[in-house]
Amino acid sequence: MRILEARYPPKDWTTGMTPFEVLVSTILSQSTTAANERRGLEDLRRRVGSITPDRLAGTSDEEIARAIWHAGLARQKAPRIRATAAAIRDKWDGQLERILSLPTERAREELMALPGVSYKTADVVLAMAGGRPTFPVDTHIARIAGRWELTRRKDYESIRGALEEWTPPGKRKAWHLAIIAHGRALCKARNPRCEDCPVRADCDWYRRSRLRKQPPTARKHGSSTKG
Ligand code: SF4
Repeated sequence: MRILEARYPPKDWTTGMTPFEVLVSTILSQSTTAANERRGLEDLRRRVGSITPDRLAGTSDEEIARAIWHAGLARQKAPRIRATAAAIRDKWDGQLERILSLPTERAREELMALPGVSYKTADVVLAMAGGRPTFPVDTHIARIAGRWELTRRKDYESIRGALEEWTPPGKRKAWHLAIIAHGRALCKARNPRCEDCPVRADCDWYRRSRLRKQPPTARKHGSSTKG
């Protein structure tokens, strides 16, 4: 992880965003690319004026769906966003910050109780907007945790638990961002670019799937990046 941290310095995509915008952005990010999610968020802001619980709770599903069209699955995401906004308006006086001021487990429970908030969404909001030492698991992280054999389980909570056990609390946000960046750049779902990967010497998947297929001379060169 020292190598990956140096290669992918943290880019905090939440800079300048309110906690509620981080929540909406995370709902929008489901099953789409970061670029399309960001476009959907910007279109939504332009269309409704400002992204606040009050404003979105008072906007129709159809209007929200039209605004977030670029983020995909607009008809499913729009009612989730509106219902979440309404719940925060009604139960928390429109202040997501009130949930984030609770102890971490309690805050997680309250976030999960909001309509449309998944495990991953709750953990992203806790980590990125609340500064809590959770390890949100997205598709890149789940894939890489499997390739590194941090866990053999496939369910969200098992992967999160394994990553939180593996990672010092102060490093969870940085490592979460670095592993996502690595998944996008090299450790792709199909055809990972292992020959360019700076951590292949420590990668279980590489040793198991790629290295043993190589002849002994190639294996000697490919087995270590440490000289
Ligand atoms: S060696 Fe390949 S599978 Fe392993 S982390 Fe690198 S890119 Fe991913």
